[in-house]
Amino acid sequence: MFNLGDFPLPFRETNMEPYMSAETIRIHYGKHLATYIANLNKLIDGTKYADMDLHEIIVNSATSVADEKIFNNAAQVFNHEFFFNCLGRGNNMTPDIISDAFGGIAEFKEKFKSVANSVFGSGWVWLTHDKTTGFEIVATKNADTPIAHNKKPILTLDLWEHAYYLDWQNRRADFVDAFLESMIDWKFVIDNMNIK
Ligand code: MN
Repeated sequence: MFNLGDFPLPFRETNMEPYMSAETIRIHYGKHLATYIANLNKLIDGTKYADMDLHEIIVNSATSVADEKIFNNAAQVFNHEFFFNCLGRGNNMTPDIISDAFGGIAEFKEKFKSVANSVFGSGWVWLTHDKTTGFEIVATKNADTPIAHNKKPILTLDLWEHAYYLDWQNRRADFVDAFLESMIDWKFVIDNMNIK
């Protein structure tokens, strides 16, 4: 059994205004994430997944067509917890290790924007790292998540309409710009990387 309290919001609901309103946070965290958790609990009850942690559920259901609903809900719980942890105000200096990997801060941001803006429909854009390929910026569709593909997520942005529509309506590219300029807690990102 998972509970919303296992995935605490790391800031106040008003913290991301004006880029992400308290109303968006309330619905996104308190309704969307809560629903993925409730669905996951129902789906795993009495199955082999019931005693696994979230990461194990995702990895074990990722290639099973029969368990697609379990994968989708588990991955969305992970993706949202990770996303909310990436958000913050006041630590928005792009770290050297990231800008160096892409040839500069502007180049990193342009690449991130280009991949984000290429996502058609619901999905996510990620900065990932693995030991052989280094840093990459990749998009995933729907609930898909890098941890199902053996890649370590470093940073993510939710591109589902519920993430931005109340605040930005059709201006998704402006939401992506605001994320890169003003909404990232790079301290979480750096602490999470553990790859120096
Ligand atoms: Mn979302």
